[in-house]
Order: sequence, then C-alpha cells, then structure tokens
Amino acid sequence: MDNVASLQKRNKVRFNKTVEMILIHMVPLLAFFTGATWFDWSVAIFLYFSRMFFVTGFYHRYFSHRTFKTSRWFQFVMAFLAMTSMQKGVLWWGAHHRVHHRTSDTPEDPHSMKLYGFWYSHIGWILGPDYKETDYDGISDFSKYPELVWLNKYYVVPPLFLMAVLMVLGGIVNGGSILATFAVPGGLSTLFIGFFLSTVVLYHGTFSINSIMHKLGKKRYESGDESKNSVILALVTLGEGWHNNHHYYESSTRQGFFWWEIDITYYLLKMMSWVGLVWDIQEVPKHIKYSKNKQDAHRLKKEYEELRKSA
Ligand SMILES: [Zn+2]
Ligand SMILES: [Zn+2]
Repeated sequence: MDNVASLQKRNKVRFNKTVEMILIHMVPLLAFFTGATWFDWSVAIFLYFSRMFFVTGFYHRYFSHRTFKTSRWFQFVMAFLAMTSMQKGVLWWGAHHRVHHRTSDTPEDPHSMKLYGFWYSHIGWILGPDYKETDYDGISDFSKYPELVWLNKYYVVPPLFLMAVLMVLGGIVNGGSILATFAVPGGLSTLFIGFFLSTVVLYHGTFSINSIMHKLGKKRYESGDESKNSVILALVTLGEGWHNNHHYYESSTRQGFFWWEIDITYYLLKMMSWVGLVWDIQEVPKHIKYSKNKQDAHRLKKEYEELRKSA
C-alpha cells in the first residue's frame, strides 16, 4: 500500500465504535444527577493508579515485551485485572504493540504521530477499521494458552465484573445496604465516577504514550524513531514516560534507566519479585545505558526480535 492510500484508509473511523467511545466519555457526567461521595472519588483515584500499573506492568512490560517471567496462574490474574481497564483483550493489546515497535514511525506503524497526526495516533487508530482484529500469530507465545485466548475473546467480562463489584460496594458504603446497588445514594455514583471517570482518564494516560510521547520531550538515544522521554508523563503513567529509553532498549523491565528517572511500575514489579510472584526482572546493561548511536539501536532491535522468536 502506498502512503497516500494508507493515509486515506487510516482516516476512516467506524461509526459504532466512535459512538461507543463518545458515550463512555459522557457517562461520568451523569454524576451531576446522582452526586458523588468521598468513597466514589477514592475508588476513582485507586482504580486509575492500580489499573495503570496492570496495564504498564503487564500488558506492556510482560505480555508485549516479556521483560520478566511469572507463573501461568499469575499471568492469567494480571491479564484479567489489566483488562478491567476496557482497553480490549490482552492479546490484542500485546500483538499491536509489538507491531508498533517493529515499525515505529513508518507507514506500517499502527499509531505514528509523525505520519498520521495527533488525533489518529491518540485514539483514531482504535476507532478505525484497520486494527480491529487480534493477530494471534503475532503473539503466539501467549496465544498458546487457551485461557488467555478465551479472555481475549470475551474482553467485556473483566470490566463488567468490576462494575458489578463496585456497584454492590457503592450500595453498601453510600446507601447503607446491598439493596442500594442501583440507587442514589448508592452504587450508581460509584459506577459513574469510581469506574467510568477513572477509565476515561486512564484511556488518555495510556493513549498519550502512543501520541505525544513520540513528539514532546527529550531524546537521549538514537532509537531510529521519534520517541521521547518526559518526567511528567513518567509520573502520570507510572514510568511509561521514559519512552525513548524504552524504544532504544525494549528488553529491560526498567524504563527509567537512571536512578533519578522515577519508574513506579518497575519498583512495584521489583517488590513483587521479592515475594516470588514474578522473577527474572531485566535491568539495563551498562553498555546500553551509556551508548547512544543508531547502529547500536538497530542491532539491539534485531537481537530482541531473535530472542523473542527463539523463546
Ligand atoms: Zn513497548
Ligand atoms: Zn512508542
């Protein structure tokens, strides 16, 4: 496909998907009718940060890049929890992200801000027709597990499960009884603010890595693309703002390469490793940390692809 044809195709969005996305953004506004309690706001803050961790620690650093190891049962639990973020299935997410790294800022990149602009790289690529399906072959190392394929197919199950739990909790805490699950005060405001508001903010936190982290910030390494580093985005996304580091060397669990580059996901994964939930966490080798040239970047990319193929 030449660039013009590819651009035209990528400007399309699916009507149903777009309406769905607009509605998701509007649900929190219903809280103007129900009000919201301290419990609802606390749930929102807790769910933003905990689910950001599941997305960055597991969707990204585990399922997309395999930078550490864990057990089969724990990978299922983490996939389930990450999927409560309503960012489609775990295999869909990982397979597309691998394509992004292989083709970063070229016409084949699913979300290149350089080539397709802010809106398309931020959200348009999800609403368009091109990246709807999961490429199971592109993530065969995980699609060999039937439980993950099941989860990926029924990706609405984890968010619906979380919504139900939150509404019951909201009913009890806000309304004083489980009977207030669908009442005001009760579970409805917990659903609107606790679940939907945090989900929408989490969307834009995650999406901004695909869009503005390929435009704004500092570039330390010649990674062969437009990826950048930003401390602000690193704080908001628990470490994903060290995106240029990450594009330069994908095999490291740690994305903040230097001690001052705050990477909360890495610290939490490290703590999980102390109790044996995960292991083989990868650090950044010294010669990578202090080397910045393009040839190194290409060699590292190749080595990484070979490693994943043989794993
Ligand atoms: Zn990545
Ligand atoms: Zn990127």
